[in-house]
Amino acid sequence: MEIEAGQTTFEDLGLSEPVLQAVRDLGFEKPTPIQAKTIPLVLDGRDVIGASQTGTGKTAAFGLPTFTKLGQHGKFRCLVLEPTRELAAQVEEQFNLYGKHLDLKIALLHGGVGYKKQLDQLKAGVDVVIATPGRLLDHFQRKALHFRDIQFLILDEVDRMLDMGFLPDVRRIVSQCKKKRQTLFFSATMPGAIETFAKWALDNPEEISIGRRASVAETVTHGFFPVAYEQRDDLLLALLKKTDYHSVMIFTRTKAEANSITALLNKEGGFKVTPMHSDIPQKDRTKALKGFREGTFDVIVATDLAARGLDISNVTHVINYRVPENAEDYVHRIGRTGRAEQEGDAFTLLAGDEVDHALAIERYIGQKVERKKLEGFDYIYTAMLDDEAPTGDALSRRLGTLKRRRSFGRRRR
Ligand code: AMP
Repeated sequence: MEIEAGQTTFEDLGLSEPVLQAVRDLGFEKPTPIQAKTIPLVLDGRDVIGASQTGTGKTAAFGLPTFTKLGQHGKFRCLVLEPTRELAAQVEEQFNLYGKHLDLKIALLHGGVGYKKQLDQLKAGVDVVIATPGRLLDHFQRKALHFRDIQFLILDEVDRMLDMGFLPDVRRIVSQCKKKRQTLFFSATMPGAIETFAKWALDNPEEISIGRRASVAETVTHGFFPVAYEQRDDLLLALLKKTDYHSVMIFTRTKAEANSITALLNKEGGFKVTPMHSDIPQKDRTKALKGFREGTFDVIVATDLAARGLDISNVTHVINYRVPENAEDYVHRIGRTGRAEQEGDAFTLLAGDEVDHALAIERYIGQKVERKKLEGFDYIYTAMLDDEAPTGDALSRRLGTLKRRRSFGRRRR
């Protein structure tokens, strides 16, 4: 079946009536391209490899047809593996909405929380499990569940699972499932190790790629803001003050940096800010995400833990306080904005020690990122501000300005 994305409606795709009703309740008007391509294939019983950016509607692409095929309550037949607790929780949230008019039982199994509720759910009988690999294997070893009846195995964000060292666990889980099953495999990037793994896990899969694998969503305007290292905090504050944002994610390289930016914004006042990284206890992370979605917070300061896949809608702006060291992370981070075809802006502060990372990003995405200057900001001179290094008079004027400013200015660090 050849589907033209953009003209297709959800009604054309072969989804069951209870699932279509849930789609209508969610207010989804038309399938996104990945949904238009994936849903018919899944309904047709095919294995699928999807290379797709975050925010493309991937969760519904695998969830809606799987729910159509699962129908009503029965055995544990569908397993979704996710690399992080947040992603797992987010998929569960979406799945509960897709399954609103069905009688399916869905369990979320991840670490960092007690076993009792999870064991009670498993005992009561589930159809769908969404899990992180470690806790799932714990339950398996305790014989709280088995994988013999799995018909739908969904491996999501596989490149992230590889990065986090989960692939051996995932392999163990996959090898416990019966051969006769449908496997859906999603990964934003496809390094060699992932291709080998996919060949082993999938049976004659159909490959779906939405856009270039390393591309930035077209709805995001992004730019580099060259700045002297010691002016980064000032520029960050100035950008926040000058920008008409609804919600911002600020990405830092380290947890300590996330904490210090949070403290800086709290001290400055006027921001509803929360940090988000792996030292924050799980219950506080959940609270932070919920608060961010509901508007209790409008600024979240996060490390990469929060960068991939988190479904936070209405993020109008992303600010990279540091240029990501890994070019893929740039795409993932700024993928927080411009999701599901909304417009978004992404600013990346670029200090002198980060030029190589910036060039690596440009090579990776295959385009030059515009260098931008914030109007009215009192820049101290850095060679970063020039396309070409200044010489002669221009240089001495600038150095003179720099010396004067340094002797007066209150500069952090
Ligand atoms: P995902 O890529 O699965 O993380 O989805 C990103 C966001 O897009 C989520 O907030 C979904 O609820 C939303 N979404 C998914 N499919 C559609 C659609 N067909 N129309 C509008 N929004 C959608």
